[in-house]
Amino acid sequence: MASIFTRIVQGEIPSYRVAETDRFYAFLDINPLVPGHTLVIPKQETDYLFDINDQDYQDLMLFAKRVSEAIYKAIPCKRVGVAVLGMEVPHAHIHLVPLQSEGDLDFRKEKAKLTPEQFQEIAASIAKSLEV
Ligand code: AMP
Repeated sequence: MASIFTRIVQGEIPSYRVAETDRFYAFLDINPLVPGHTLVIPKQETDYLFDINDQDYQDLMLFAKRVSEAIYKAIPCKRVGVAVLGMEVPHAHIHLVPLQSEGDLDFRKEKAKLTPEQFQEIAASIAKSLEV
């Protein structure tokens, strides 16, 4: 069965798109640690990030780097943190989280509550920063 992220890539499930290439996709995490929390995925479904072949892994990381630069421009933060968990969704993904402090990367803390309009606005502003 296709993963929930494959279904997002295929447009069966909606997402707040931040960036896309023919091989990779970036979208807002629906339960964000902080506003701007973004997931970067390969469109090709692989469960475990470190099972991805070297070339695709390198290209995915470069794509994540570009997205992180856009997050940094769009969302006031000191750093963009990176995390890989994969405890919930068996489709490799990289969390990019704008950080004010190290506590912002604590996955046990209560998630930010955003309206659909806020999600849309954040996704649009990161996407715009990617273009410049
Ligand atoms: P993990 O697999 O432990 O890295 O966690 C999966 C992440 O995916 C969590 O932060 C979820 O909030 C996020 N997530 C799950 N379903 C969706 C969805 N439909 N759209 C956006 N993010 C999602």
